[in-house]
Amino acid sequence: MTEVLIKLAKVIDIAEDYQLSKLTTFCVGGSAKYFCEVTSVKQLQAVLSICKDSDLPIFVIGGGSNLLISDKGFDGLVLKLNLNVLSVNDNIIEVSADRLLNKLIDKTIEYGLSGIEGLAGIPGTVGGALVGNAGAYGDEIANVVDHVDALDEKYNLIQLKKEELNFKYRHSIFKERTLILLQARLQFQKHDQKEVADKVVKYRQDRTAKHPPFPSAGCTFKNIDLTDEIESKLKQLDFDLPEKFVEFKKVPVAWLLDQLGLKGKQIGGAQVSEKHGNFIINKDNASADDIVMLISYIKQQVRDQVGVQLQEEVRYVGFSD
Ligand SMILES: Cc1cc2nc3c(=O)[nH]c(=O)nc-3n(C[C@H](O)[C@H](O)[C@H](O)COP(=O)(O)OP(=O)(O)OC[C@H]3O[C@@H](n4cnc5c(N)ncnc54)[C@H](O)[C@@H]3O)c2cc1C
Repeated sequence: MTEVLIKLAKVIDIAEDYQLSKLTTFCVGGSAKYFCEVTSVKQLQAVLSICKDSDLPIFVIGGGSNLLISDKGFDGLVLKLNLNVLSVNDNIIEVSADRLLNKLIDKTIEYGLSGIEGLAGIPGTVGGALVGNAGAYGDEIANVVDHVDALDEKYNLIQLKKEELNFKYRHSIFKERTLILLQARLQFQKHDQKEVADKVVKYRQDRTAKHPPFPSAGCTFKNIDLTDEIESKLKQLDFDLPEKFVEFKKVPVAWLLDQLGLKGKQIGGAQVSEKHGNFIINKDNASADDIVMLISYIKQQVRDQVGVQLQEEVRYVGFSD
């Protein structure tokens, strides 16, 4: 047993050589050197300080629905929170980062609370949703945030108000700093319960109809801001640019990849979904390398043909060395 493992085992149950593919919706990825599930903030602080003293890298995983983990896995400790808080008081919900976003949405139906109906059906946890400011159908989680509790880089408890969280399209302060999100206080509009429920059902059904029935991490790339330069390039290419893209100044990557004939492109077991061009799917036992190669190919095609550098929405884990 290594020294760090002996220290960790004194404060928490640790699994070694833990298969990460079973924690991701892509169903790919190698093993974590160590894995644990943390049930209190005190325990989390103890684990983090042991890892820091031993220079053991850590990675906090939520529902694994926005991740591409390398075939080599993660040479450190992957930790999952299990703080299990979800309480409602009038129009306020306190929820810990580990709770599933869809459990939160079920609570909003139960209490007739409106604001994030469009997020219904997005997999993963509340923590993951806040980190990437998850959004769909015109709603985003930032809209209902009052403040969050987190651990800072020195593992001190801090509270950050919405204004301090730097929410943008698929972005928050959690992508700029190494904070660990513990809990959020969310503030909703009271609304007719049936209307909230009907909207949620409609969005869940719409997703099921539109999304490919294969493992994936959702949209691979961020949609593109439509500049005058890109607009004229797309017109030069004779693409029929829908009016609403011009109105909202955004080009959906799914549409662009369809125009470029990339739907269905396959490398190894990874494929650009025929059903939704911004989804890369694990069609047939894909490795993380297959997916990385397919992402590179798409980026190169889009760069060469349209002059746009696509940005991944999916986050890479374990690729640095
Ligand atoms: C079928 C499908 C459909 C999807 N549709 C959408 C959609 O419509 N809109 C959308 O925005 N996304 C969508 N996604 C992407 C994904 O579901 C969201 O990004 C989701 O919010 C990620 O949450 P997660 O818990 O799975 O995070 P993970 O993938 O586990 O982690 C994402 C990032 O958050 C970090 N993180 C997680 N928890 C914490 C924490 N407590 N503290 C600090 N960091 C943390 C991780 O370290 C990682 O960097 C979809 C994915 C799939 C598979």
